[in-house]
Amino acid sequence: MRVLFEEIVFGTKRKEQIVDITGEVRAVLNRWGVQDGIVVIFAPHATASIVLNENEPGLERDILNLFNLIAPTDADYHHNRIDNNAHAHLRSAAFPPYVVVPVKNGKMLLGAWQRIMFVENDGPRAQRRVIVEYMGE
Ligand code: ZN
Repeated sequence: MRVLFEEIVFGTKRKEQIVDITGEVRAVLNRWGVQDGIVVIFAPHATASIVLNENEPGLERDILNLFNLIAPTDADYHHNRIDNNAHAHLRSAAFPPYVVVPVKNGKMLLGAWQRIMFVENDGPRAQRRVIVEYMGE
């Protein structure tokens, strides 16, 4: 079995933003020349999320609206006594910052409309990291 590891690093520009990283993950897998296994896509951040869904501008706004329904920015939170981003932590807790995708013949078995999307809940940030770890043949 092979275990391969790489980090994707990028910045975010807005307070709330969706960044499609499907192409970057695909490029990493292609470079490694993998076969069959699984790939874990994990962001080591307490205020980010990763979702698998369609990359369509209207839906992007709908997803951000859903996040805002789950944890509104301006609600009264305990954590805001020491920091001012409880809403972002709660969104990351509700939508965790990782996904696992099966890989067959070197290709991720994503559905036709599924993309790997990093969700910034507390931007802008100069540096966000996403770890891509592959386990398989
Ligand atoms: Zn905080």
